[in-house]
Amino acid sequence: MPQGRDFGGYTDGPTEKCGVVGISLDDRNAARPLYYSLYALQHRGQESAGIVTHDGFQQHSHVEMGLVGDAFSENDLDSLNGATGIGHVRYPTAGSVNSCCAQPFSVSFKSGSLGLSHNGNLVNADEIREELENLGHAFTSDGDTEVIAHDIARNLLDEDLIRAVKRTMERIHGSYSLAIMHDDVVIGVRDPQGNRPLCIGELEDGYVLASESAVIDTLDGELIRDVRPGELVVLERGGAGYDSYQLVQEENTAHCFFEHVYFARPDSIIDEKLVYEVRRELGRQLWEESGVESDVVMPVPDSGRAFASGYADAANETTATGEPREEDDTGVEFAEGLMKNRYVGRTFIMPTQDERERAVRLKLNPIKSTIEGKTVTIIDDSIVRGTTSMQLVSLLKDAGAEEVHMRIGAPPIIAPCYMGIDMATRDELIAANKSVAEICETIEADSLAYLSIDAVASALERSRADLCLGCVTGEYPYDIDGETTDRDVSRPDIGTQEPVTADD
Ligand code: SF4
Repeated sequence: MPQGRDFGGYTDGPTEKCGVVGISLDDRNAARPLYYSLYALQHRGQESAGIVTHDGFQQHSHVEMGLVGDAFSENDLDSLNGATGIGHVRYPTAGSVNSCCAQPFSVSFKSGSLGLSHNGNLVNADEIREELENLGHAFTSDGDTEVIAHDIARNLLDEDLIRAVKRTMERIHGSYSLAIMHDDVVIGVRDPQGNRPLCIGELEDGYVLASESAVIDTLDGELIRDVRPGELVVLERGGAGYDSYQLVQEENTAHCFFEHVYFARPDSIIDEKLVYEVRRELGRQLWEESGVESDVVMPVPDSGRAFASGYADAANETTATGEPREEDDTGVEFAEGLMKNRYVGRTFIMPTQDERERAVRLKLNPIKSTIEGKTVTIIDDSIVRGTTSMQLVSLLKDAGAEEVHMRIGAPPIIAPCYMGIDMATRDELIAANKSVAEICETIEADSLAYLSIDAVASALERSRADLCLGCVTGEYPYDIDGETTDRDVSRPDIGTQEPVTADD
């Protein structure tokens, strides 16, 4: 069974599982802008793509396995009528390719129709599912999105949409950014700790909610702002405006710092920060914390590029000991020393460890003239299993590098993610089982350094208390079975709903 795939990259890095979008327009079909939006979010999920629209009378849905470009034909888009709609791209969990979990999830029930796109992961979905099953709900998938849909549908039997969602928010625990469509009304919801991103934009003839602002750029719109943690945003029918309801307010947020480091597009603005500039700043801080003098600084393409550019800039201003460079000091050269084969990528399947190790050679080729006889610092954003780093060091040494120093623009990943990122298990995570010195020895680099957690918080201009740092501290902002928390959180009591007799 395939155990790994990637999209355009080559690393064994963590993978985002989903991207969501919702649109309300004046009087043109939302299908095409949704389709373009999903293209803009393709990096967040490549297993399946889907769009659900509503024309004021009925829902239309097309959800397909595969990339956006393969999932929709002209006829499919033409059949998706209606000026409101939601969309979704999904990445599979490790080893699974499962059509029943493709989204948006849609369901018709007594109070109308519901469509749901979810980015994130609930940690108490099983408890709610069990309770709803006991109340007679039948589930078609094992995903947590269907649990949210059933819970909202149930609440809609005796509440309006806003109260129904609020009631569900009081029961679900975990990470969620949602684009929901109830009949022809689109709403967006971000979990009370704002773990996954969601933003609002204005289009010429309507409004859009999306995981990343790059979607809004793609549609020639203007970013308005992030959806606030715990906020529900309703896009008015006819694209006339939007209403905001702050349903829950927590003292601290738990933004996923990895969005800025790794997942999001560099051209997206998340939590008011351009991701590209954050990565450059992380690179600068990496130089300040652990800079090493070398002839050449090069990125691991494409993931390390912004970090390496910030690192090289800082390296040309001060020496590794923090002294200003003398005029005759030529500093370091910033160069692309590894060329990526862009045509090995998205469907590359690596069934065995041996073949996974071969992947780097297939995807990257060193430019010998920038490497041979030189001391090289190579910059990447993360190390997960270490396999790729080992291959990279060997690739550079085979190309004639005299020394290879590796610098990583994030802290060591020591624990898995339960919030919707496919990060690998503790057994697989090299930093969960080895010290930095041992990792350096394993990957056969001349030196290795990671960025500190404080530097990440400083680059994001957030306190540590407002970030999710679960994968680098092993302490999570949610109440997760068998794990410790970094704040005062606990799961809601489930099992308090009365049975209803209506057919929902
Ligand atoms: S555990 Fe890591 S990857 Fe997961 S949400 Fe937290 S910061 Fe992001």
